Amino acid sequence: KERTLALIKPDVVTKIGDVIESIYSSNLIVTKAKMTRLSWSQAADFYMEHQSKPFFNNLVQFMSSGSVVAMEIMGDEATSVWRKLLGPTDSAAARRDAPQSIRAHFGTDGLKNVGHGSESLDAAARELEFFFPSTIGH
Ligand code: ATP
Repeated sequence: KERTLALIKPDVVTKIGDVIESIYSSNLIVTKAKMTRLSWSQAADFYMEHQSKPFFNNLVQFMSSGSVVAMEIMGDEATSVWRKLLGPTDSAAARRDAPQSIRAHFGTDGLKNVGHGSESLDAAARELEFFFPSTIGH
């Protein structure tokens, strides 16, 4: 089984129950959870790979605008199952192309799109460490 990061963005933090219900319906379980608020620089660190993108400032601003909920979720193919459950990045595209997805149901647009999922197992390990740092080996 895989462990991966499911990060609930500030736009839907009040609908966390619906998101968790979808996670369990997809045969994934939540093994860690933390509600926190990212500073501008923490959000910028988390999304460092996007620093040259035109939407970077909006993204960091949005991600530090309110509380987020970070969860470690676990299950078979958790990384790809969670990303599929989220649906396409742009919520409008999600409503068109993946009407059952979480972004189709709860997303607003291409920025306010409910959640983040790690792109790979390597990214999952790194991103889990960001929110749930281990003390082992330090
Ligand atoms: P994530 O990495 O958050 O799971 P993703 O892989 O679907 O999402 P990326 O292309 O990695 O999308 O972009 C990261 C995030 O940046 C998106 O989830 C979204 O919040 C924001 N974003 C991406 N493209 C745009 C855009 N064109 N305009 C505004 N915001 C965007």
